[in-house]
Amino acid sequence: MNTRWWPTRQQWQRAFKPGVGRHFVLAVLAFSSLLTLASTGFTLFLEYRREVELLQRQLQQLEHSFKDSLALSLWNLDRPTAERQLAGIAQFPDMALARVVTPGGQTFAESARVMGGQKLELRAELHHQAGDRQALVGELLLQADQGPIVDRMSVRMWTVFWTQGVQTFLVSAFLLLIFQHLVGRHLNRLVRWTAQVGAGDWSTPLQLERKAHNGSDEFDVLQRAFQAMQKHLGASRARLEASERRANTIVEQLVDGVIQIDIAGKMQRVNEAACRIFGYSAEEMVGHNVRMLMDEPHHSTHDGHLQAYANGGPPRIIGIGRQVEGLRKNREKFPMDLTVTAIELDDQQVYIGLVRDLSERLATEQQLWRQTNLDLLTGLPNRARLLDQLEKERERSQHTSLRLALLIVDIDRFKLVNDSLGHAAGDAVLRITAERLQASIRPGDILARLSGDEFAIVLSDLVNLKRVEQVATAINQALMLPFDLSGQVAQLSASIGIAVFPIDTASEVGALLRCADQAMCAARALGGNRYQFFRPAMQQAAQARLAMVNDLAAALAQRQFHLHYQPIVDLQSGQVLKAEALVRWAHHEKGLVSPAQFIPVAEEIGLIHALGDWIFCEAVGHLQLLRKKRSAFQISINTSPVQYSGDTPLMQQWLAYLEMLGLPGDSLTIEITEGLLMAEHEAAQAQLLRFRAAGLQVSIDDFGTGYSSLSYLKKFDIDYLKIDQSFVRNLARGNSDHALCEAIIVMAHRLGLRVVAEGIETQAQFELLREARCDFGQGYHIARPMPLDALIAWLEARESGGERV
Ligand code: C2E
Ligand code: MG
Ligand code: MG
Repeated sequence: MNTRWWPTRQQWQRAFKPGVGRHFVLAVLAFSSLLTLASTGFTLFLEYRREVELLQRQLQQLEHSFKDSLALSLWNLDRPTAERQLAGIAQFPDMALARVVTPGGQTFAESARVMGGQKLELRAELHHQAGDRQALVGELLLQADQGPIVDRMSVRMWTVFWTQGVQTFLVSAFLLLIFQHLVGRHLNRLVRWTAQVGAGDWSTPLQLERKAHNGSDEFDVLQRAFQAMQKHLGASRARLEASERRANTIVEQLVDGVIQIDIAGKMQRVNEAACRIFGYSAEEMVGHNVRMLMDEPHHSTHDGHLQAYANGGPPRIIGIGRQVEGLRKNREKFPMDLTVTAIELDDQQVYIGLVRDLSERLATEQQLWRQTNLDLLTGLPNRARLLDQLEKERERSQHTSLRLALLIVDIDRFKLVNDSLGHAAGDAVLRITAERLQASIRPGDILARLSGDEFAIVLSDLVNLKRVEQVATAINQALMLPFDLSGQVAQLSASIGIAVFPIDTASEVGALLRCADQAMCAARALGGNRYQFFRPAMQQAAQARLAMVNDLAAALAQRQFHLHYQPIVDLQSGQVLKAEALVRWAHHEKGLVSPAQFIPVAEEIGLIHALGDWIFCEAVGHLQLLRKKRSAFQISINTSPVQYSGDTPLMQQWLAYLEMLGLPGDSLTIEITEGLLMAEHEAAQAQLLRFRAAGLQVSIDDFGTGYSSLSYLKKFDIDYLKIDQSFVRNLARGNSDHALCEAIIVMAHRLGLRVVAEGIETQAQFELLREARCDFGQGYHIARPMPLDALIAWLEARESGGERV
């Protein structure tokens, strides 16, 4: 702080800088000078007037004093006296001229001094008193010079002017110093501080250069008020900055793109998300027209809407989210959601565009839609979607009164492909089937995959059913063509069930689906590779099947199952040391039901596990009995592939049960189907190997109906092949079945397997098989399947009779 009483150089400079200080000094100077001038002028004027009055009075006194004597001198024409008198008058200060003039105007006497300047004049008539008569004798002229008065006044005026001028200057300077010290420097500080704050420096507090006062003069109050204001404004500013930072952070971190444009469409600000979405840097976007982010016709439409809005038109796009097509830097177009908001920013109308890239969401939605509506393997509509489409077609059909056909296509023996060639081959079959079905229908028709190997086709607007038959025939033919499964060739066929709306059912689509399904089951039951229109009888069959399902569930507990045994004869020796256990269901109403009917149902409802276990226990119990007399007797038990699927805890206990009964492993033969040995049945194969390890024998049932692949026979150390009865049925010397049977027998023997021929119904078949060196045979010609008692009796009769076939 400056403690000197005199101002510093800077203070002087500051004081005389244009501003309040200089104006103040100039005002003081001008005012005091004017005042001094006016008062001095007035005083001088009064003094001048007084001096002139004195001079005038002097003239009057002279006139008064000399008037009579001069009149007498003139009367007497005494010129010398008159001249002496006039010289006396001229001696008076400031007198310039004294003259006496005759009435005729001639100068009688005169005394003059040479003087310049303005004159003060007095004229007086001279009279002579002669008795009571007064005569005019002449005129007296007196002139005084005002020059000395003016000179005196002038000296005085300059004296006063100079003294007053210096005084005024000094007073002004002093006042200026006082003002500068008390006010000016503080104002200057205030101005500098304000400028500093204006420039953005909010940190320096306002500190006036004055001693700490407790007082409350204006500057104290001002300083405190400014400090409080600075603090308050600083805090507000900090809050504002923080809130702006937050707002910026939010805008920058938004997943959505934010683009600010002016009314001409020029981008003023963009956030990171906008850059990411469009693939530009912020520099590449800011300053450019927003048009670059949209292709035609979107940007023209958009521009038009903005222009219309700016001209007071309707807010077509303002505040409304719309889906438009965006254009990325790499020219890729993408769907985006655009919401434009119009706001006033710094007195300017701007638009804020909120952009959301919809491509990922739409892709996810599409994927979700595909997952819920399409079958992922074939890309066809799935069951849920089919039901929707079918419902729509059904409603349409109600309006048009044209018919609608639903075809359910089921691949025959598809399970076999899956079991024998693996699931990859199964998938390939399904994909090829989908393609062939698609090729068999027209573009407007609907094709869907219902489940597993079941497909559905909807044919609409049918005037008659001819087209349905054509399509069904085409499908049957198409699916008969060989399926090339990466090297392996599969020969398949299809069962097609057809239901027609509203002929077969006029109610909801579920009923139509059931009708078509029943028709398909009927086609399959007839051997497949055909189509069947729905008939009401099928409904009854389906109901019967449902009834069977219900009855079957109760049959085991109600002991309705029995085992029959069909003897297996050694074709070469004629000995019977084997029998096949075949399950029988004695239904309480229907009598005996064939296993061919109920085993598939039991497989379907999972009852086969409990039933299979019961059959095993029952059979080995009977075997124990049979072996009491015939220690080498062996029983074959049929097992379903389903029994090997999933966890098979029941089967795992079989070996322990055998051991418990004291039966050797080789007293039992397990009959399996070919499919079980194929790939993808690891758990089943492990179980099979456990059976083999325990000495159980394994027999391939119905050999020749499946894939008849030989390689696995050796791998699993199979004991028997059972030639399917379809080959035996038509066996005749020299025919193809004969050749086939012989080939199977030779091949099996080479592999170390023995062969059992099923379904021998005639002596001729018997002979031919024996000649072909078939090892064993079974069939009605030898014996029909029979209960245990009958078998024992049959065996005993045969043994006692030494009977040979
Ligand atoms: P499969 O194992 O091939 O059994 C042979 C079938 O042929 C038996 O029919 C039998 O009665 C019949 N059969 C035997 N000889 C002749 C003949 O000379 N001519 C004709 N036409 N048929 C003959 P079934 O008992 O009706 O059994 C049918 C199928 O049911 C069996 O075929 C088998 O696959 C299955 N099955 C039977 N019992 C069981 C069982 O206990 N468990 C399992 N899982 N399946 C069984
Ligand atoms: Mg069998
Ligand atoms: Mg068989």
